[in-house]
Amino acid sequence: MRITAVEPILLKGDQAYRSTAGGEEATDNGDWQLLVRVATDEGLEGWADVETLAPPAVAIIAGPGMAVMGFKSLSELLVGENPLEVERLWDRLYVGSAYYGRRGIAMQCISAIDNCLWSIRAQAAGVPLSTLLGGRRRDRVTAYASTLFRDTPEGMAAAAKGYVDLGFRAVKFGWGVFGEDPGRDRELVAAAREALGPDRALLVDPGWYPVGWSKPGPMRSRREAIALCEWLADYGVGWVEDFIHPERFDEYAAVRAASPVPVAAGEQVATVWDFERFIQQGCVDVIQPDLSRCGGLTVAREVARLAEEAGIDLVPHSWLTHLLTGYSLQLIATLPRARFVEFNVSQSALTRGVTVGRPFRLEDDGTVLIPDLPGIGVEVDRDFIQAHRAN
Ligand SMILES: [Mg+2]
Repeated sequence: MRITAVEPILLKGDQAYRSTAGGEEATDNGDWQLLVRVATDEGLEGWADVETLAPPAVAIIAGPGMAVMGFKSLSELLVGENPLEVERLWDRLYVGSAYYGRRGIAMQCISAIDNCLWSIRAQAAGVPLSTLLGGRRRDRVTAYASTLFRDTPEGMAAAAKGYVDLGFRAVKFGWGVFGEDPGRDRELVAAAREALGPDRALLVDPGWYPVGWSKPGPMRSRREAIALCEWLADYGVGWVEDFIHPERFDEYAAVRAASPVPVAAGEQVATVWDFERFIQQGCVDVIQPDLSRCGGLTVAREVARLAEEAGIDLVPHSWLTHLLTGYSLQLIATLPRARFVEFNVSQSALTRGVTVGRPFRLEDDGTVLIPDLPGIGVEVDRDFIQAHRAN
């Protein structure tokens, strides 16, 4: 089998990232979305989504590269290759783009391509991707509703109540106004805890930008970060997420050592080498590789091994289309311990429309079933994609 095309598909929508004041749903990035399609001469195709700055990513994948290795575009490196040789091709993409890539947009594009290749490999073998990754240990996992902080305690209570009514056993609130006003932060978390009751998990993602990204201020100091963890413990928060500058591994380790609340992070980390350092330096209780950013499944399955060695949990970060949910579920199926799948309840019309129908629904016990069809068991909506295509 040979790769015939690596196609970047740029979609344009008309909704912007937005948090809300009341109980109504927030919106993820609904302005641009990049998809990647890898095609083969035997008719098998892989599809994946990428969280990146989409317009320049198109050029990195399909634009003209330069003559010398290290400056190639990603499709130049892959067309004509055997898609089943996934790990060799990961190295080829990394080295072929090394002068301009290694992290950031190039690594996010490599992640999507790598996921496509894993999907093709599983389809070619006629098995669910989880079988190739080591085998299914479960057929379902608890889903957490993943959304943004609302602006008011009343909005938080209404939103939390809404997720309880839908059947969620866990909810994560992130970003939005959090960090602008410490007194209000506490009221927002208290309102969510009250509405969720004592038995459902409440996860908090304070964000790591200079405090209150809509109202710039200084980054949190170490003392402030620890104080934040301490008061979050009063509300039985299940984890505090990604609230320190992602390059400050030392700071993560220091705050985690002092925090009464488990620390979750890693959505900004990419490559096995960086995850190895991040985990070995004791930065987290829960490692969160994002399969659309970390280098793809080739990297994430190594992260799972590192997490197991270190005795920490792995919950993939996954706040994009249900293609990413689908890839994340296939990895989750194989983990020795699986606490949650992140379920993006804030999908814009653009992120929601990419997949056919409602590929995942919540079961009565608050879980989502893990597909056991060949590949990832999620179908793209070609008509929707054609209608929103901008390149
Ligand atoms: Mg996060």
